[in-house]
This record gives sequence, C-alpha cells and structure tokens, in this order.
Amino acid sequence: MSEIIKAKASCLCGSVKFTVDQMSTSLSSCHCGMCQKWTGGPYLAVEVSGDINFIAGKELVSAYNSSDWANRNFCSKCGSNLYCTLKNEGRYYMPIGIFEGYDKNSIHFDTQIFIDKKPPFYDFSNKTENYTEDQIMAQYAEYFEKQASLKK
Ligand SMILES: [Zn+2]
Ligand SMILES: [Zn+2]
Repeated sequence: MSEIIKAKASCLCGSVKFTVDQMSTSLSSCHCGMCQKWTGGPYLAVEVSGDINFIAGKELVSAYNSSDWANRNFCSKCGSNLYCTLKNEGRYYMPIGIFEGYDKNSIHFDTQIFIDKKPPFYDFSNKTENYTEDQIMAQYAEYFEKQASLKK
C-alpha cells in the first residue's frame, strides 16, 4: 500500500537541496521516449504533492518546457534531473535516486507506464501494474481537456 513520507533530496553536485513532506512510497517507471532521452533510461519516479522546501540552490533549478502539459526541471550546474511537473498542478514526479534519509524498504515499485514503448533490451522482474500509452492518455484525457479549455 502506498503511504506518504517525508524525504530529503539533493542533486549530484550538492548545490540543490530540498525536503518534501508528501512523497508517495509508490514507485513507478515510465518507458516513454521523452523519459528515455531525459534520464538515459526508464524514469523511476515517485509522486510528490505539496511544496518543495528548498534548503539551497533554488536559483540553480532550470525548467525545460518539454510539452504543453509538463516541465522538466534540473540542476543547471551538474545536470541532475530533479522533477517533472504537470503545469497548473501542485504535483511533481521526482527521480527516486535524488532522495536520501528515508526508509528504502518503505518504497514499493508497483507501476510501469508506457509499457508498449519499453525497448526490448531490458525487463524489470518486479510485479507491477502495467499501462500502455493509450491507457495513460485515456486516464489523462480529462486533464488535457481542462488544459486545452484554459488556453482558449
Ligand atoms: Zn547540481
Ligand atoms: Zn515518460
């Protein structure tokens, strides 16, 4: 079962440091083409709600506008990926690797998305619920419609 925990994060060079109060213990992997480019492989991410409490380096965080609905944010000094965020929503998808100071046994890798976009040369052995691109797009259709209507 997914819980909410507090955790601390930092980038590779240590210039960006922050804490989050609402990190989900449910870990998911996205195999989409954008995540493959962004992370160099499948994106292993946790969902974070609420505020990002910066300790250091907030000014070093750069945002790349990767699509109409999402931004990808990274440390401009060392290039570490920090979070992908859906615009106009207080929700973030953060790479699990940037976190420390939490109980690693509390994390459950339970979901894989864009499974039909996964290249054939790797497979995770974890027991997960898998969703194709079409299934994810259907889930988010309402959200995208809302975004489209806001633009008008
Ligand atoms: Zn850095
Ligand atoms: Zn993706």
